[in-house]
Amino acid sequence: MRAAVFHGKNDIRIDEVPDPKIEEPTDAIVRITHTAVCGSDLWFYRGLQDYPAGSRTGHEPMGVVEEVGDEVRHVQKGDFVLAPFAISDGTCEFCRAGVHTSCTHGGFWAGITDGAQGEAVRAPHADGTLVRIPEQVRDNDPLLDALFPLNDVMGTGHHAAVCAAVEPGSTVLVIGDGAVGLCGVLAAQRLGAERIIAAGHHADRLEKARAFGATDVVDTSSEDAVEEILEMTRGGARHVLECVGATSSMQQAIQLVRPGGHIGYVGVPHGPAKSGLDIISLFFKNASFRGGPAPVRAYMKELMDDVLEGTLDPSPVFDMTVDLDGVPEGYRAMDQREALKVMVKL
Ligand SMILES: [Zn+2]
Repeated sequence: MRAAVFHGKNDIRIDEVPDPKIEEPTDAIVRITHTAVCGSDLWFYRGLQDYPAGSRTGHEPMGVVEEVGDEVRHVQKGDFVLAPFAISDGTCEFCRAGVHTSCTHGGFWAGITDGAQGEAVRAPHADGTLVRIPEQVRDNDPLLDALFPLNDVMGTGHHAAVCAAVEPGSTVLVIGDGAVGLCGVLAAQRLGAERIIAAGHHADRLEKARAFGATDVVDTSSEDAVEEILEMTRGGARHVLECVGATSSMQQAIQLVRPGGHIGYVGVPHGPAKSGLDIISLFFKNASFRGGPAPVRAYMKELMDDVLEGTLDPSPVFDMTVDLDGVPEGYRAMDQREALKVMVKL
């Protein structure tokens, strides 16, 4: 079969690779219909993260089950399924506690198994990992497009909002205008926030944030952005969603959280953000700082219900669609910021 393979910095190619096979009785083989290029893929694409040449890529699979191992019970051949970016068995201590990204037997696509940017994947722990999509949605393209982002960016935006303890009537600051930040705006609105301030430095994306429910937008490339937000919120927001992971955005979150408030952080910390944060400010503000890789699997059902009811539609985060051969172009377009997020339809 064919799949995207990383060959080196700025070099993704569609290569012939071995067909996936059932290796464990808990595996399933899924033929991919939808996948995507993620902002986090750009770290290795740009050579900013160690990634061995020859590695498969992609971690957002959706498609049709082609084959299941002998011990798989919850999905069967022909089922249409969505899978979170993390693989989980659904039964260990951490899965039962809702922290599926820490699953004892889990791991990531393009890590412990195939990458999702290809014609098919071997899905380990199929009963825990795969979520069935109702049969009646199968031919409804707009609904499928709306469900698809639950496997990564929408689940992650929601996790940021949950970690920031967003509640009805609250004032929320969302830092970052990438796909996760935009989904954070949507999630904050869904949880009943009254005022949502979206902060980022791309005018077009901030416009999209408004369409997603932001009541105010702030261009953070301006020197006065922090002052401006402090003024707007009269001393900081009670709920801050940090959706970037850069040192500067983490630091802004700490500066802009209100005493007694909550920061939900879901941007993978990169560079100096791994250390050197201003913990002393957090200390004196009595602010909470909670986050991590989103246990998307734990949120799948509640978010799916809303999409199926028509009250949640994150699909506008995608502004470019390619086929498998277009994956290298999708990376290039995202790297050049010509596209916000690229969907891949096979
Ligand atoms: Zn587990």
